[in-house]
Amino acid sequence: MPGYDVDLFVIGAGSGGVRAARVAASYGARVMIAEEYRVGGTCVIRGCVPKKLLVYASRFSEEFEDAAGFGWTVPQPTFHWPSLIANKDREIARLEAAYSATLERYKVELIKSRAVLEDANTVRILSTDTLVRAKTILISTGAWPHYGPKIPGLEYVISSNEAFHLPELPKRILIQGGGYIAVEFAGIFAGLGSKVTLVYRGENILRGFDDDVREHLRSEMRQRGITVTCGHTVDAVEKAGDEFIVKLSGGDAVSVDKVMFAIGRRPNIMGLGLENLHCRIAEHGGIAVDEYSRTSVPNIYAVGDVTHRVALTPVAIREGHAFADTVFGGKPTPVDHSNVPTAVFSEPEVGVIGLTESQARERLAKVDIYKTSFRPMKATLSGRDTKVFMKLVVDGITDQVVGCHIVGPDAGELIQVLGIAVRMRATKADFDATMAVHPTAAEELVTLREKAVSYSRAAAE
Ligand SMILES: Cc1cc2nc3c(=O)[nH]c(=O)nc-3n(C[C@H](O)[C@H](O)[C@H](O)COP(=O)(O)OP(=O)(O)OC[C@H]3O[C@@H](n4cnc5c(N)ncnc54)[C@H](O)[C@@H]3O)c2cc1C
Repeated sequence: MPGYDVDLFVIGAGSGGVRAARVAASYGARVMIAEEYRVGGTCVIRGCVPKKLLVYASRFSEEFEDAAGFGWTVPQPTFHWPSLIANKDREIARLEAAYSATLERYKVELIKSRAVLEDANTVRILSTDTLVRAKTILISTGAWPHYGPKIPGLEYVISSNEAFHLPELPKRILIQGGGYIAVEFAGIFAGLGSKVTLVYRGENILRGFDDDVREHLRSEMRQRGITVTCGHTVDAVEKAGDEFIVKLSGGDAVSVDKVMFAIGRRPNIMGLGLENLHCRIAEHGGIAVDEYSRTSVPNIYAVGDVTHRVALTPVAIREGHAFADTVFGGKPTPVDHSNVPTAVFSEPEVGVIGLTESQARERLAKVDIYKTSFRPMKATLSGRDTKVFMKLVVDGITDQVVGCHIVGPDAGELIQVLGIAVRMRATKADFDATMAVHPTAAEELVTLREKAVSYSRAAAE
């Protein structure tokens, strides 16, 4: 390998980078990986994992309330935010150490520094100001919270990054955003006892999800005391003593103790040195790549959120693995980004895969919709006013189930398994032929017999 210090240099030790580094090393490549913050990246340090731990914490309040209907007397529970944060931090540190140990086991050299591109084969390590020559470079630098246009008082606004480290639980919080991170944090804070106001500029939360899912979740969130204000934006944040006065478009103002924005994340490409290389950036702001994650510079690849394809951990991991298989394993492996099952850990949870009703109507000649909304069994004794929602979107010509949408407890767990059936092109008849598991909520998925509605393009034309 004359002229190169390593076969592969990975910039960013998050979900995609760590997987790519490990797999490339397992094929015998000499690999170096640079990380400017903490090994594990967004998912482990300030994303999926800490978020889910907070979600678990937030759900106990409903469990305590619901217990009474089942004969339990629960003394007035109290909650201690610093304990939760300390315990969460301990678990994150354990995971970070496990990630580092994996890299060490595979003899991947970890450089704890920011790294930037000097040229197509050279990386500059900023902490030591040294250069490393690499035959192949992988950019897996993730994404970063975006705060939108500069408004007065933006300096008071936090993102999800800081939400994980607040010194105390805010009594009142306003969250701007309608995507999954915004609704998840709304559920977390509400469950832990904060008064939550969610402000979103669009007409309804969870843009891109099925309209029935959006409506159902919004009404369930309201049921749990969350104020959901759509069609508005935050225009200004004023500090008034210990609190903040948030001015909304339309003239309303809300007084809160914390203001959080979760209005999107932008690919982390700033200052990476890509400009000098004429590396193509796609219209959406991510690094443009082909199906093998190769950029417009032939020996530079990019995976994960920095490519702005599907910004989810399992996708970044799959892309990182496929990259290593392709470049170092001799197995060209494209990644299929269709039919990615996904969950929103809101309260209640959302799980979806495949086409929404409106997407199916746009793409298919005939569409059959099956849906149900029902009171879950547990609510009969707990008395909680809540409903589960389930919907199947079926290709009316082939009978294939092309979309499945669930709002309710454990929707994330359910959609993982349903994802297999949908990917295997299961038909509605396959669902119907599957014996129900009783008594469960999921049995509704195999007992939906009545079409809610059927669309036919020929009939519409
Ligand atoms: C609050 C939140 C909740 C989420 N929840 C979920 C969820 O429930 N399920 C799910 O699938 N996904 C979730 N995600 C998304 C998921 O975290 C990301 O899709 C995933 O982490 C992307 O992995 P990645 O490898 O592309 O980037 P990252 O994991 O972000 O890793 C990038 C790494 O690169 C480092 N870096 C950046 N620039 C440099 C540089 N120049 N030099 C050295 N290091 C650098 C960063 O410090 C970071 O560690 C969540 C995200 C957030 C923010």
